[in-house]
Formats: sequence, C-alpha cells, structure tokens
Amino acid sequence: MVQTDQSQLLAKDERYIWHSMKPYSPQSTLVVTEAKGCWVTDHTGKKYLDAMAGLWCVNVGYGREELAKAAYEQLKTLAYFPLTQSHVPAIELGEKLNEWLGDEYVIFFSNSGSEANETAFKIARQYHQQKGDYHRYKIISRYRAYHGNSMGALAATGQAQRKYKYEPLATGFIHVAPPDSYRDEETATDPRELKSVKAIDQVMTWELSETIAAVIMEPIITGGGVLIPPDGYLQAVKEVCEKHGALLIVDEVICGFGRTGKPFGFMHDGVKPDIITMAKGITSAYLPLSATAVRKDIYETFKGTEEYDYFRHVNTFGGNPAACALAVKNLEIMEKENLATRSHDVGAQLLNEWKNLLYDHPYVGDVRGKGLLIGIELVADKQSKAPLDVALVNQVIGICKENGLIIGKNGTTVAGYNNVLTLSPPLTIEDEDIVFLVQTLTAALEKIR
Ligand code: PMP
Repeated sequence: MVQTDQSQLLAKDERYIWHSMKPYSPQSTLVVTEAKGCWVTDHTGKKYLDAMAGLWCVNVGYGREELAKAAYEQLKTLAYFPLTQSHVPAIELGEKLNEWLGDEYVIFFSNSGSEANETAFKIARQYHQQKGDYHRYKIISRYRAYHGNSMGALAATGQAQRKYKYEPLATGFIHVAPPDSYRDEETATDPRELKSVKAIDQVMTWELSETIAAVIMEPIITGGGVLIPPDGYLQAVKEVCEKHGALLIVDEVICGFGRTGKPFGFMHDGVKPDIITMAKGITSAYLPLSATAVRKDIYETFKGTEEYDYFRHVNTFGGNPAACALAVKNLEIMEKENLATRSHDVGAQLLNEWKNLLYDHPYVGDVRGKGLLIGIELVADKQSKAPLDVALVNQVIGICKENGLIIGKNGTTVAGYNNVLTLSPPLTIEDEDIVFLVQTLTAALEKIR
C-alpha cells in the first residue's frame, strides 16, 4: 500500500474532512488504513485494539474475506434493483431475519438507524389511521437515549445537547425518564410497580391515550451511558402500551445481533415488540443497511384496496442487493460461531474481572454491562456520585489510545454526565486480546488514581 507522508495526510484530513465528532482525546485524529479481527492499523503502522467496535457494530470482527466475497459476487450478478419490486438477496435476508426474530415480521429496508426509526414512526402513525384512529400521533421516548440524526429521530432522542441548535424538530415527541439503577435505584420487585414504568402509564393518561401512537426505546440505553433497566421493565412497558392502545417500537440498532448476549436485546425480557428497528449490526457495519421489522398483522392493515392506502414511503438504496447478500453471510457467520452466546459468556467474564479489579478505585462508581456492552461510570466522589471531570475521563481514554486501545465514553454533556467509559469489542475477541484489554484499561485507570 502507498504510505502517504503522515503530516501530509493529517493536513489533508484537516482540509477536506468534516468529522462528525471531535476525537475524544487531545491527540491527533486516527487515520485508519486497515483492520483485521479486533485490531485496526493507522497510517503510521501503529495497531490498536478496537474496543469501541460495538458502537459501530463490527460484531464479527474486521477483515472477513467471506463478507467481502459475498458483496463482490452479488455486485457482479445484480448490483441494484429497487425494492418497489424485489430481488433474491432481500428475500433471503427477510427470511433469515425472521429466524433471528423468532416470530413473523415483515421487513422494510433502509440504510441507517435513523432511517429505520423514521420509518417506524411513519408506520406507527399510519397504522392507527388505517384503523380509523386519526388522533394517535404522539411518540413517547426517553431522556438520555439516542435514536438518530434526522428531524424525527432527533426529536425522539433525549439528549438536549444534540438537539437544541437544530430546533424546532418534528413535533409530537414526548420524553420520560429512563430507569437508572446506579443513581436512582428502584426497589419494586414487581416490574409493573417500577417508578419508571408508572411514569409512562401516567404520561399516556395525562396526554390522553387516544393521542399516543407509540413508545420507542432501546433495551439498554447505550449512547446515554449504558443504562441497564431492571429485569421485566420492557415487558411491563409493553403491557402499559397495550393498555393505552400504543405500539412498542424497540430500537435494536446497537443492542441487536448478539451485542448484549442474546440475538436481540428485547429477548432478555421475553417481549414481543410491535416494531423492531435495526441497523449496522446486520452487516457487521461492512455495508450500510438497516431494517424496520413490523408485526405481520400490523403490516396487513396497510393492504388497502385503494392505492391511497399504501405506505407512502420509498428508500432508493434501502435493501440494496450487495448489502443484503453480505448481511445473510454475516448472520450465517454469527450462527456458525455462536457469537451471541460468546458475547454473553465473555461479557460476564470481563464484567467480573473489572468488578474485582476496580472495586476500590476511588473514581469507579459503577461497573455494569450485559454481554459485550460494558459501562464503567467514573465519579469524582463515590458518596455524592458527582461525575468525574470530563478532562480526567478524556485522560483515561487518551492513555488507552497511547497504549494501543480504543475505548469510548458515553453519557450526556448536560450537567457534565459524559462520564461512562464504554467497552464493546467485536464479539469474536480472543482470549489474549481480552487480557490486553483488561490490563491496558486497568493500568490507565491506575495512572489517574
Ligand atoms: N439508534 C441508536 C440506538 C443508535 O445508537 C444510533 C447510532 N449509533 C442510531 C439509532 C442511528 O443510527 P445511524 O447513525 O445509522 O443513523
């Protein structure tokens, strides 16, 4: 490979590329040239273990020849055809997703998580209209959750710092507080009695049930700081939705495809969501593809005799053949390598190790996780739980990076709660890489002790 002079490359990057977010650390931008397994290589040849890969959902690891081949073969056979008609890879993927979902869903394909959620909102609103329920338009979501960058998905997002410069966003979105077991532990043993569940019930009553179209939530809020709800929470929310005639949309954009130790996050509670949105994990992020899976009977209501009744929503590149073919291969690899179970087992091991290693660290307030989605909440003081200064959080991330480990942070910049280190390596992570991950992060935390 041609190696461009480092200073030139960074200068060109600075000149031409508008990055979506600033790098987390004060160090220079990482220009990645290649990757294999859990490791990425920058343009100077330095290697890093990517323990943030889970946020972009490279679940089967980088550099899988089988995936490149599946896309290549499909591009040669049929590069494109719109899903106003059909093609074989989309049909095969639809069937495969139904196997993964364990129930009958009809799939609408798009390219990104934001689009999958926008599609879900439109389906939810139109579904009620198909049934003659013309006032149901409100969507309830939760503070601290992220659902995407477009005007509807951002309206559903509950992170003010991402929104306030672009308002007004789409209307009809209402937020409630999510459960936060570290800062506001709930003691109810019956999930229906949880304060965070009753709040949704109350909001629906006060807003008038007849105006509520749907609730959207992730099984675990990832972007807002790896917030794991009490067992039974999602099932209890589903019951509240049913009571008020609203649909439950589960956003599996990050939690889906084995990340939390089950094929999908909602499966921890045995819930059957009405709509499920998913994205990058379908292809392990190798190509853009997302999906909105809709319960069969909901789909059936769209089959009006008049053209006017159909779902008026088109997505040109959604479900393109190469991405679908690659996705089928990706899911086959996940099945063959048993990666959801591996995520559960390795995640439990990692969680245990960090809990032991870090329990007396003055800045570690909480270590939590499910599968290979782990959050370490850093605090200035364990008693008050005041968040650790973001400069120190960044310092930990910077030390890790210097030592060849990429980790992220999540939370919200509002009130300084951007303090949850997030660890989510590829689900294929090997034993020796786990040792490196544990040692490097623990050493970085020791350095700021
Ligand atoms: N939902 C969740 C839970 C996400 O984390 C994200 C982005 N990471 C999105 C939706 C939006 O996905 P995209 O960036 O592909 O639009």
